[in-house]
Amino acid sequence: MEQLTESERIEAIAGHVDAIMRLLGENPEREGLVKTPVRAAKALWFLTSGYRADADATVRRALFTHEGSQMIVVKDIEFYSLCEHHILPFFGTVSVGYIPDGKIVGLSKIARLVNVYARRLQVQERFTAQLADSLLQMLGARGVIVKCTAGHLCMKMRGVEKQNSSTTTMHYNGVFVDDAALRAEFTAQL
Ligand SMILES: [Zn+2]
Repeated sequence: MEQLTESERIEAIAGHVDAIMRLLGENPEREGLVKTPVRAAKALWFLTSGYRADADATVRRALFTHEGSQMIVVKDIEFYSLCEHHILPFFGTVSVGYIPDGKIVGLSKIARLVNVYARRLQVQERFTAQLADSLLQMLGARGVIVKCTAGHLCMKMRGVEKQNSSTTTMHYNGVFVDDAALRAEFTAQL
């Protein structure tokens, strides 16, 4: 795959989408569908752009010196991801708390980092953990805690499922591991 350019890869994906549509019983040549394989391929390319993003560079360029040691909370960051079992969307919000150790990161960069890990085939549990653990490393923070709440279309759309169910995952590291009061301080702010 490495030898293909980006547009060659998108073109190849479009060819497969065309084949899938035919196998499903559609006619990709009918009016309205002519450009669909290419559109769908470009959408998939965008929705998986996290594979090709540099998480490290996203954060390291936006680190600032900071003396305080109080918890910083960024809450309700929207995200859209694809479940790796069905390639169907799951989406919701993620909230991040961290205890700095001399450095903080620009708030918009946390949202960028969320996209890096969301825009790929994912499971919610791993997404939550990757976000917390990568932030700990890149920030050199004393601890990071992440809470994620999402609805999964593979649960909502298939069969008779619980239409309004949502899933919550939490991951924490560093000083949050042995400090229940600190974790409670985070959840109290959500
Ligand atoms: Zn699924």
